[in-house]
Formats: sequence, structure tokens, C-alpha cells
Amino acid sequence: MKSYDFDAVVYNSEIYCIECLPEGVTEDSEEVMPIFADSEWDLYPVCTVCHEIHDYVNLTIEGQKYELEQKQKQYSINEKEKFWKHLYHVYLSEITGYLKVNADHEQDALDYAIDYAEEMGWEGLFFSNEEINNMPDEEIDEYICSGNHCRYLNSHNVTIEQVDNRDIGEHFGNIKD
Ligand SMILES: [Zn+2]
Repeated sequence: MKSYDFDAVVYNSEIYCIECLPEGVTEDSEEVMPIFADSEWDLYPVCTVCHEIHDYVNLTIEGQKYELEQKQKQYSINEKEKFWKHLYHVYLSEITGYLKVNADHEQDALDYAIDYAEEMGWEGLFFSNEEINNMPDEEIDEYICSGNHCRYLNSHNVTIEQVDNRDIGEHFGNIKD
């Protein structure tokens, strides 16, 4: 990405992906300010509509420290059970940081992570039943439902990464560039 490229903008003091701007507003509209790739942020800008994290910008030193802390804030879910095929890092949200999950495949890893989140009482991660009941079906389909109770995560930023280096926990020193 070049320094003057951008995927996100500021409009009305809110952050939007270009695609998420309200109808009739475009990146060329007068009140819209691009978030350029070479700008520096304390926190990655997050779209107010779809909650996408725009990590194409630069982070200030404070921001890099924060990101690193998030990565180091890892919860081990089932580490004692060594008979699983793989180790995964499951990222559900900034609330949880990275969850370390032993599982045989990605879907299992996600199920364990969500059951764990429910157990921990991290209700902020999920849509409530009421929210789900009031949502049109096609909108619900955009979200991931998983775990024993099929809870819907209210985020689009779920990532599952196979790690398989079982000692990696101590080595999270790299800041993504
Ligand atoms: Zn968006």
C-alpha cells in the first residue's frame, strides 16, 4: 500500500470503510477525510458500521505497545490435553486477546473458544437472544454461530490461526508491519 492509499475515511467524526459510507456519501464528498496509509494511530481505526479493523495504517509507539499487550494477553483453554492434533490462536475480540486452543481442526478450535468465552461470562462478545430475534435472517447469516449453545459473535474480526509451535507463548515479540 502506498502512503496516499486508503481503505477507510473519517466522516461526521466517525470511521467508515469506503464501502460502508452512508448512501449518497462517497470518498470524494467534501466532508469526508481519507485515512491515509502513512498516518499514525494509537489504536487501529475501526469501522463504525461493520467493525472492520483497518490495520493498514501505522501505529504510534503507544499503539504498538498496546497491540503487543493484546497479543501477550493469551488465555490457554485446554493446554493440558496434549493429544490434539494442532494448536490454534483464536482471536474473538480485543476483550479476549488471543485464545490458545488445542483442537483437531479449525471448527473445533472455534467451538472450544466460544464455549470458553461463554463460561468466562464474556457476554459482550455475543448478540443477546433478543438481538438475534429482532434481526432479519439474511443479516444473521453474516455472523458466525458456534459452540454448544450456538452463540452468535457480534464481530466480523474473528481469526483462527494454526500455530503448532507449542512454545510460541513466550515469543510474541514481533510487531506486524
Ligand atoms: Zn465498514
